[in-house]
Amino acid sequence: SQAILEVKNLESAFMIEGEEYNAVDGVSFQVQPGKVVGVVGESGCGKSVMSLSIMGLLPKGIGKVAGGEIIFDGKHLEQLPDQKMNKIRGKEISMIFQEPMTSLNPVFTIGYQLEEVLHNHFKISKEEATKKIIQLLDAVGISRPNKIIKDYPHQLSGGMRQRVMIAMAIACQPKLLIADEPTTALDVTVQAQILELLQDIQRKNDMSIIFITHDLGVVAESCHEVIVMYAGRIVEKASVERLFKGPKHPYTKLLMGAIPRLDETVDELETIEGIVPTLTKMPSVGCRFANRCPQAMKECVEVTPQLKEEESNHEVACLLYEASRPEEEVSR
Ligand code: SF4
Ligand code: MG
Repeated sequence: SQAILEVKNLESAFMIEGEEYNAVDGVSFQVQPGKVVGVVGESGCGKSVMSLSIMGLLPKGIGKVAGGEIIFDGKHLEQLPDQKMNKIRGKEISMIFQEPMTSLNPVFTIGYQLEEVLHNHFKISKEEATKKIIQLLDAVGISRPNKIIKDYPHQLSGGMRQRVMIAMAIACQPKLLIADEPTTALDVTVQAQILELLQDIQRKNDMSIIFITHDLGVVAESCHEVIVMYAGRIVEKASVERLFKGPKHPYTKLLMGAIPRLDETVDELETIEGIVPTLTKMPSVGCRFANRCPQAMKECVEVTPQLKEEESNHEVACLLYEASRPEEEVSR
């Protein structure tokens, strides 16, 4: 089937002290209708920058899409003027973030904010809007919607706020939802409920989701396909079954060993030694994971690994695999 989103060779650049650096550096992937694609990596790997690029929300004057294509439902988003992008954002593509407090306005009631979303995209009466809002809150598992619409964000728990955000995000029945660490700030039980809710909504509406997380456990639960990012690049891409059955990239393998147990709240990714290189110190050639990779070889700092299919539906960017490929492919 036709992909709902196709990202081709995306480069997202940031200006730092007068120089341009790619926080996302040549990323390509597709999202099929009704599928959930997980994007995994540590903070600083470019996953949020990638989603802000798709949404057209990179900070003006600092960040920009510097190359590549973002094709959503046949439209080239990277070429759309702001005015047209505003119509797509929130209606055809919506986004939910880790901390709903930053996207909910503290001075307005929940009901007012949901009504705003509906009025921005539809011509509907006040009564119709109220009816729809009650339905939406009901759909996200809020048991007393008539009370909640009169509440202000600070009167709700974290889990309730995230449910409200999801209600807002699905108000216009988007074809694509980008969820950036939507459960990270919540406690484990609430996390599980929110994940279940998202899956339920996804199935009912046949919506596609890009699920951004640092938690591979969450990916296993809720995604069809997985993209593993490191330092602005995709290092591995596979169906969820293949990735968990046989991770190939050393970084993914380390992440797998670091899946937190459900009763642990610490960020287990910190147990991988070293840090992601900062944007301004990114090596121009070689593998960006080389300084942390337990399997690094001499050529890893000299040759840049390319993302290539190793098995059907399983791609990896690592010289360990290129070595077993024919000579002429290695030199490309
Ligand atoms: Fe490790 Fe080399 Fe593979 Fe990079 S290319 S992940 S450094 S083995
Ligand atoms: Mg992030």
